Amino acid sequence: MNILMVSAEMAPFAKVGGLADVAAALSRALAARGHDVRVVLPLYGNLDRESENIRPLKKLPPLALRVGQMVHDVRFHVRGSTSSAVKIYLVECPSLFEKHGIYTYGDGTGFEDSLSRSSLHAQAALLLPRLLDWPVDVVHAHDASSVPAVLYRQNWYAGRRIPGPAGTLLTIHNLAHQETHPINAVDTLGLSRSLASYPGLLEFHGQINLLKAGILGADLVNTVSPNYALETTRNQVFGCGLQEILLSRGDDYSGILNGGDYETWDPTRDRDLSASYGPDRLAGKAKCRTALLEELEISPESGKPVCGFVGRLVGQKGVDILLPIMSRLAQDGFAFAILGTGEPRLEKAMREVAIQQPDRIAFVDNFDESLAHRIYAGSDLFLMPSQFEPCGLSQMYALRYGTPPVVRWTGGLADTVTDAKPDLADGTGFIFTESRPESLLAALRRAEIMFADADRWLQLQAAAMAQDFCWGRAAESYERLYETAVSRQS
Ligand code: ADP
Repeated sequence: MNILMVSAEMAPFAKVGGLADVAAALSRALAARGHDVRVVLPLYGNLDRESENIRPLKKLPPLALRVGQMVHDVRFHVRGSTSSAVKIYLVECPSLFEKHGIYTYGDGTGFEDSLSRSSLHAQAALLLPRLLDWPVDVVHAHDASSVPAVLYRQNWYAGRRIPGPAGTLLTIHNLAHQETHPINAVDTLGLSRSLASYPGLLEFHGQINLLKAGILGADLVNTVSPNYALETTRNQVFGCGLQEILLSRGDDYSGILNGGDYETWDPTRDRDLSASYGPDRLAGKAKCRTALLEELEISPESGKPVCGFVGRLVGQKGVDILLPIMSRLAQDGFAFAILGTGEPRLEKAMREVAIQQPDRIAFVDNFDESLAHRIYAGSDLFLMPSQFEPCGLSQMYALRYGTPPVVRWTGGLADTVTDAKPDLADGTGFIFTESRPESLLAALRRAEIMFADADRWLQLQAAAMAQDFCWGRAAESYERLYETAVSRQS
């Protein structure tokens, strides 16, 4: 099949969170299964063209594309070698994409022209099949920011101006990010105003809501774990107000568990680590632990665990229930290696906790891919106390690195981690259910006891490292969705 991916992120060069990892790894897995996969992203202002091997696609002419009242100059670029299995196209548009960042400025404030950016990105992506004379079977849009691709496919390109059937699939990586705007913003999208007033596709509670329109407009919709698909249709809180809209799609809405990108995340050949290791040779992990403690200048009490956290410092990730128990655990000998950026209030609170016990708690408020690898490897436990978690990739990496995750029983965390019991040989991590500090604390106390039992801990690490959430299985499930999406257009 010919698959056109429209995504704002792709690892490793344009990454905010899990979407980037998925866009890269799913595309690779599909290409390995014989599909022609082409990904289109904006050419962000902070991308270094030379080191990223980004160059103009000379055979395509410069274009002028209209967004609202403005006309923008656009050029296509490509990234990587021509022989790459997955082709990556980048849309250069200095007037919209010159800013550094994908969704927000450095201080976390969202871009005021996000809708214009999404519109131009989608228009350029949908033009590519015609410009390249490449019939497209499926347009696969990711998250709210790519929904305009679905809407334009359905409206502007309802006739046959896109070569190929161009069925549409929308994958929701996080239902909390919906892209809502005032009604008159429909003019920026260049779509009929009737879509923005009830019962139009875009209208939702007196605003336009891109995600809602995408859910109703795409041939098929999926999210990134079976459990999150259930939660979002059963519960208004998880559904973030869109529960009924999702339910209205019936079987056209499903959950496919993400895979782990084990090419990038493999402790047996991870160049960011000071020592490599695998399930049958764990000595390297002990070296990584020592190196991490030296790098971050922290030390746990002998026999107590090092707890790692790598993630966005936002309410979703459960940082609010972690903060109140850190000082107490640090006093009891635990050490913490925390890497993350996010909400200023949580960054500030984390900084304050770390300052009080600098020899036990290290907080790095940065985005640092390399340090992330060292934290997954050098920690004894990995913390993911999320309020909700569409899939979560970090726990999959932690498992592969022999670092049992401590997770709340929600979304994809419940699909990927099983609870370790002291007297049974099974289990891969520690699960708690209530989104309260005391529940997280109780899980950590259980982990502390098991950590003190070296044999049982080795058994747990072996079970964790044996988990295999491979992308091949997920790619097969996506193939089935693509086939259905194509049949809807044929
Ligand atoms: P989400 O997509 O909700 O952010 P996931 O667990 O699906 O959560 O994916 C998060 C990805 O982003 C992981 O690869 C994680 O290692 C990475 N990540 C998050 N914050 C940072 C950071 N500050 N530095 C490096 N990597 C980070």
